[in-house]
Amino acid sequence: MDFVIVPPPVVVVPVVGKDASFPVRRVYCVGRNYAAHAREMGSDPTREPPFFFCKPADAVVPVAQGATLELPYPQATANLHHEIELVVAIGKGGADIPVDEALSYVWGYGAGLDMTRRDLQFALRDKGRPWELGKAFDQAAPISPLVPASVVGHPGKGEVWLNVNGESRQRGDVSDMIWSMAEIISNLSTYFRLEPGDLIFTGTPEGVGPVVAGDLIEAGVEGVGSLAVRIV
Ligand code: MN
Repeated sequence: MDFVIVPPPVVVVPVVGKDASFPVRRVYCVGRNYAAHAREMGSDPTREPPFFFCKPADAVVPVAQGATLELPYPQATANLHHEIELVVAIGKGGADIPVDEALSYVWGYGAGLDMTRRDLQFALRDKGRPWELGKAFDQAAPISPLVPASVVGHPGKGEVWLNVNGESRQRGDVSDMIWSMAEIISNLSTYFRLEPGDLIFTGTPEGVGPVVAGDLIEAGVEGVGSLAVRIV
């Protein structure tokens, strides 16, 4: 087929120990899934149904093991925040997925940063407007290589951690999630048919905060992966 413009490339995330990559279709993100983070954002961490927002697939930037991604400080913000999250990679399509079947739709896992222009997000939130300007900017989703669930299983616990310039900023545990991975997949699939290639960022623990040019972010999820990002 001929195209009238050059088709955009497929966004791919490398897989640990394989010579093949995971192609990204959509990026879904869960808001407020750790109680202490909900409180630091000024919310009541009750078990209200999870809520979701999206990032474009091409906001995903894979960061190779041992490499440091140079991430330009984005335009239109003076308050860029880090949020480290466990990322679920979907390998099988489905809608209205029951909770007790949900993990069978998971291909694998990674560690990702839900980078956030917090000043824009709060201004939008306070006006009841969509969050895209705060969440969906270019390179807003750096991610580690993925690991297959067939190798690591489905993490029910594991530290979710983030350091800036060697100092601890975020510390939580996968077991602290308000909504489990299976519950998230099940609930999300009542709104969207999930398809292979979808990524789900599952929310961040407390300790989010600003970074500035020169800062080094090192972050990861125990047993899953880690990544390093330098703000430039
Ligand atoms: Mn987040």
